[in-house]
Amino acid sequence: MIKKDVIIVGGGAAGFFAAINIAEQNPHLKVAILERGSEGLQKVKVSGGGRCNVTHAEFIPQELIKNYPRGENELLGPFHQFMTGDTMEWFEKRGVELKIEEDGRMFPVSNSSQTIIDCFLSEAVKHHVEVLYNQSVTAISSQSSHTELVEVQSKGFVISTKDHAYSCQKLIIATGSNPKIWNLLENLGHTISQPVPSLFTFDVKDERIKDIPGVVALHVEVKVLGTNLWSEGPLLVTHVGFSAPAILKLSAFGAVELAKRNYKFQIEINFIRQTFEDCLDVLKTLKHDLAKKSVFKSTQFDLPKRLWQKLVLASNMNPETRWADLNKNQLENLAAQLTKAVFNVDGKNTFKEEFVTAGGVDLKEINFKTFESKLHKNLYFAGEVINVDAITGGFNFQNAWTGAYIVAKSISE
Ligand SMILES: Cc1cc2nc3c(=O)[nH]c(=O)nc-3n(C[C@H](O)[C@H](O)[C@H](O)COP(=O)(O)OP(=O)(O)OC[C@H]3O[C@@H](n4cnc5c(N)ncnc54)[C@H](O)[C@@H]3O)c2cc1C
Repeated sequence: MIKKDVIIVGGGAAGFFAAINIAEQNPHLKVAILERGSEGLQKVKVSGGGRCNVTHAEFIPQELIKNYPRGENELLGPFHQFMTGDTMEWFEKRGVELKIEEDGRMFPVSNSSQTIIDCFLSEAVKHHVEVLYNQSVTAISSQSSHTELVEVQSKGFVISTKDHAYSCQKLIIATGSNPKIWNLLENLGHTISQPVPSLFTFDVKDERIKDIPGVVALHVEVKVLGTNLWSEGPLLVTHVGFSAPAILKLSAFGAVELAKRNYKFQIEINFIRQTFEDCLDVLKTLKHDLAKKSVFKSTQFDLPKRLWQKLVLASNMNPETRWADLNKNQLENLAAQLTKAVFNVDGKNTFKEEFVTAGGVDLKEINFKTFESKLHKNLYFAGEVINVDAITGGFNFQNAWTGAYIVAKSISE
């Protein structure tokens, strides 16, 4: 039996951040990471298209939490303890300069996720964190003397991998979205919210977006019909449907609802963020002002030309139709295409830059002052293993840094 004071299962973002902070804040503790892979931090490596979107330039906790479809209420307190500004300071103190991009996303100035990995690896060495690779954890048992079903007096944990058994007083689970570990946690009495994908794009086959991939409408509103799901932001036409923030936000906030519908539903897009009636008034004025011009060729509402042309053709017109010739029906059709165009979604696709899993350890079973289990004393969680996830933009890593920091503070004290 190999004895440690603190064992962290999972050498990813949250695992390394927790380990380094514990070892730095309390050098007397023997801290080890058990990582199943032959290398750790693999998601950090591919994150943000290889640049690692470390966090987001949102410095107000009440605003930051709005980016978490799951975890919004629970993270408010933790963000008051360790915020995005603290993340910046943490990295900058250790020689990693960060920059803020126009949309608020923050990256290392080097534009390389390797900078973050190098920082973690050298900090781990500096603070004597032992990182044990090829150690896939297969069993966890709590050496607790059960009093009642919950709230137990801990005598520590025994953790098994294929080749070794480890014991520790404090155990941190930082295994991301790993079903095997969720099963082990269920055996320890924890409830796991059903994992479903989050952050995906929508598959749509429709004449109105055929052959125009790459077209972006800068600010649209999208509703999922038959639900309360709604979002706004840029919309990108892809080879297979729609992507960009307006869609990704819906996929995150609707992760559970859309999974129930097996990713088959209808969306309504308002391409110009005006009401049908206001749009119709504008079109009537244009009918008068541009009378002799072709509707097809006179793009309006700052829409991309190719999208405008597709919507005009979908409104029962041909490329020669002039504004003056538009009848009431055609005007109404065009206003409807611009303000309430319905598309059938028939499946989902991976968003390559970032994808996460919704689901994980039930939030009611975690004390968010310390990220300790409410069922097992001295058992802690950090990162994506818990039922917290965010939209794209650096928020998922911020959850990992905040949880890991708070666990570290609680343990090292
Ligand atoms: C392609 C991609 C790009 C992304 N880009 C961004 C981004 O730019 N910004 C952002 O905020 N978020 C991004 N994310 C999300 C972000 O990567 C995760 O939210 C984050 O990595 C979660 O950290 P974690 O430490 O909880 O889990 P992980 O980083 O997944 O780490 C878990 C670790 O545990 C190990 N492990 C699992 N099971 C066991 C076991 N049984 N025994 C031992 N070890 C085990 C794994 O091997 C892994 O190393 C991206 C995700 C993907 C997939």
